[in-house]
Parts: sequence; structure tokens; C-alpha cells
Amino acid sequence: MVDKAEIFDKLKSIVGEENASMDEAVLRVYSYDVSPYKGRPDFVVRPGTPEEIAEIVKLANQYKIPVIPRGAGSGAAGGAVPVNGGIVIELTRLNRILEIDTANLQVVVEPGVVHATLNKELAKLGYFFPVDPGSTDMATIGGLISNGGSGMRSVKYGVTRDYVMQLEIVLPSGEIVTVGSKAPKSASGYDLPRLFVGAEGTLGIITKARLKILPMPQAKALVLAAFDDLEKAGNAVVNTFAAGIVPSGLEILDRSALEAVKTYRPNLDIPIVEALLLFEVDGTPAGIREEAARIEEVCKNTGAVKVDIATSKERFDELWAARAVVGAATTALNPDCTRVYEAEDITVPITNVPKILLKIREIGKKYGMNIVTFGHIGSGNLHPALVINVLDDDEWDKLWKVSEEIQTAALEMGGTTTGEHGIGIARARFMEAEHGKAMELMRVIKKALDPNNIMNPGKMAL
Ligand SMILES: Cc1cc2nc3c(=O)[nH]c(=O)nc-3n(C[C@H](O)[C@H](O)[C@H](O)COP(=O)(O)OP(=O)(O)OC[C@H]3O[C@@H](n4cnc5c(N)ncnc54)[C@H](O)[C@@H]3O)c2cc1C
Repeated sequence: MVDKAEIFDKLKSIVGEENASMDEAVLRVYSYDVSPYKGRPDFVVRPGTPEEIAEIVKLANQYKIPVIPRGAGSGAAGGAVPVNGGIVIELTRLNRILEIDTANLQVVVEPGVVHATLNKELAKLGYFFPVDPGSTDMATIGGLISNGGSGMRSVKYGVTRDYVMQLEIVLPSGEIVTVGSKAPKSASGYDLPRLFVGAEGTLGIITKARLKILPMPQAKALVLAAFDDLEKAGNAVVNTFAAGIVPSGLEILDRSALEAVKTYRPNLDIPIVEALLLFEVDGTPAGIREEAARIEEVCKNTGAVKVDIATSKERFDELWAARAVVGAATTALNPDCTRVYEAEDITVPITNVPKILLKIREIGKKYGMNIVTFGHIGSGNLHPALVINVLDDDEWDKLWKVSEEIQTAALEMGGTTTGEHGIGIARARFMEAEHGKAMELMRVIKKALDPNNIMNPGKMAL
């Protein structure tokens, strides 16, 4: 039987009295992320250095207590939810940008740096970290790496794993190791940094990251294409790539998403149609004009009822603002309802985009559920937001069925249940179906690195 008071004393001696808590109110705050799942930690600590983290992990390993790393808790899959109790290690005190090295196109950051903070600092020098999550003002770099996150611009610039060069990790043993290299390319050994991308804190704690950065593009424009038919919008996505065009962003808002945004922000000038596609193009001023014109042609040929090209900063910002508020607006159509983060991150191959759009609509109709669909459609990634009255048990029953059908459909179309939000608890039940025998390999890796299963247990079906 573990003596909690004794462990708490040891934790306090590592991080200092003010950075450790067993207070009921504090434990409650750290019981959630934004998913519908809930746990309860035994302790919350806020270490200030990798060495303190190593000491905490050694202690946890000695007593076989779960350790749950946590960034901002903006995860949508339950990854930071302490389902088996244990020590939540909040990493937000490690929030320094340690190095900006523009000549080598790289930065070194601590894991608690908030995504938007990094990009604000880089923008001052004319550079950016291209991974672009909608949660930029919340998500930490450690959380982003651990969830394998991405965002609006993954269509052209790729995802977090494409930018991780080197990581410092506290292993489950408490040992601190550095994996990866500062070299722009390396053919040396296993690709260990990538092992920790998307590991959701199950293999160790990231305490430092060296990331690639890029110079900012000179100019940007948005092409806005309105469709009176959902399938035609899906076809326009396929036809864009088939025409050899790769926009820097390609987002969709379906009719319910547009209605929600318009109700939430009536002053935004957006059309209400079956689907709206937002294509962002970037590059040189001449290059973006040419690319925008080509996209306009593709969309018109695919049946768009209206196409506009926005080059002014005001219109550009207004359209991105419409996209940015859609998550918050999902409940605007029915204030009694809440968006529940379930089945909201499916991703399919581009050629199946028209099919999955229709399938989501069909499932919504079958269950009489308002599904507000939007997302990074240029990467095949959709966020079909399920909006229900959470006080109604029947609605929850429906939600689980809808979630099952949407995610199964994505898998059947050669896709994945998660393009960027991660597995956590929410999608663990689909892991065998998605990965088959590869799950055994994941369990072998987990067991080799964490034989006592202390690192974020109960996640990812491990
Ligand atoms: C409105 C909204 C919009 C969003 N939009 C996007 C989007 O466009 N793209 C996207 O990818 N995500 C998006 N998300 C989801 C979420 O913001 C991301 O998953 C984000 O990367 C999580 O970061 P965090 O710091 O909040 O991590 P947390 O939620 O605290 O943790 C996430 C996971 O990472 C682990 N972890 C955290 N830090 C570390 C560390 N240093 N070492 C090891 N493990 C660690 C945790 O244990 C957990 O498993 C959105 C969420 C919201 C609420």
C-alpha cells in the first residue's frame, strides 16, 4: 500500500511546496481535457527543469505510480486525462524559446511554449513554424508533438513529425536522453524522434525540442468557392490536386457550419450554401495570382455557383475568422446543445473525400443528429462536430452509434480515425481495426521502454 502523504512530501521536495498539490479543487481541474472523458489524479506537480522531471519519474517508477504528462489540456481525445490516478506533470513552466537559429532554419524550445508564442517570435524575424493548429493560442509544442498534431496548412507544409529534428526525453526509467540530430538530414540509425511523435506521453516526457522553421512566404490570397451540392465540393478538392495544384490551405464548411458561423457572428460576409471551400495560396505575388486563377477555373468546371478571390488583407482576415470561429459556433444553432468531441477527426484519402462527405450526411439523417462538418479537407481531414443535449441519455446513445458509424466508414475508405487529435481514450477501441498486427509491434516497443507501464497508462489501447 503506497503512503500518499510520504510520496507527496517527496514530490514537494523535488519541485518545491508551491508547485505540488493534492488539493481537491486542483485535482478536479486536472481531471479533464476537452474530450468527454474524466479521471482523477492523486497529485499534480509543475516542475521547472528536466532534472526535476527525471526525479519525479524515478520516484513514480520506484512506487509504480502512473505519470501523466500534460501541456495545456486542449487535447480532444482524453490523452491527458488521468484515468488510473497518479501524478499529473504539467509542463507549462518549461516555456522558454531557447534558440532561434535562422541560418540553420531551426529553433530549440521547451515543451511548454505555446504554439502562437513561438510563431509571434518567429514572425518578427520573417520566419514561421508551419504546423498550424486551430488551437494555436492554447496548444503547447510538447502537446502538439505528442499528439502528432497539424492543422490548416498541412496540405502543403506537412505535419508536426516533418518538423521534429531532435528531442530531449525523460524516459520512464528517469534517464534523460537526446534523440535525433541538428543536421538538416541524417541517415544514421532508427528514426527515434519520430517514435516519440504521436506517442501521447506513453513512452517518455519531451523536455526539449529542436524544430525546423521556414521563411515566411511573400504573399497570400484566398479563393472562396461556393457549391450548391456537397459532392461537387468534394470533387473540386480531388480535381484541384489532379490539376497539379497544391494550395497552402484547403478548408471546408458545410451548410450547418456556415449557418452556425452566421448565427454566431452575423456581421461576417459569407454565403449560406451546401458547402464552401476556402483555398489559401501563398508564394510570390505573381505566383499566387496564377495559382488562384487556376483554382477558380477548376472550381467553375466542377460546378461552383460562385468563386471569389480575396487578396485584400481585410477580406482575407474576415474569411479566416469565419473558419476560426466555426468550432465555437457549433452550438449557436441550438443553445441547449453542446459539441461533444467524438468521431471528430477522421481522415480519408483525397479521392474518397466526396464519398465521406455524403456518408456523414447520410449518418446524420439516419439518426436525426445535427452534424456540423468542417475541417482541413485538403488533407482529407474532417471535423464532423456532433452536437447534442448532454442532459439527455437518448442523445448520448445516438452519439455513440453515430461516432461508431462515422469512424468505421473512415477506416473502410482506407482512412484513419484521427488525422491530428490523437488516440487517447476516445479512439482506443478502433486501434486493433486500424492497425491489425502492427498493434503488437507498438506493445513490444511500449513494454521495452516502459516495463512497469507507468507512462500515461490506459491510453492508445496499449
Ligand atoms: C478549439 C480547438 C481546436 C483545435 N484544433 C486543432 C488543430 O487544428 N490541430 C491539432 O492538431 N489539434 C487541434 N486541437 C487539439 C489540441 O489542441 C492538440 O491536440 C494539441 O496539440 C494539444 O496540446 P496540449 O498542450 O493542450 O496537450 P495536452 O492536451 O495537455 O496533452 C496531449 C497529449 O500529449 C501528452 N503530452 C503533453 N505534453 C507532453 C510532453 N511534453 N511530453 C510527452 N507527452 C506530452 C499528454 O499526456 C497527452 O497525451 C484543437 C483543440 C481545440 C480545443
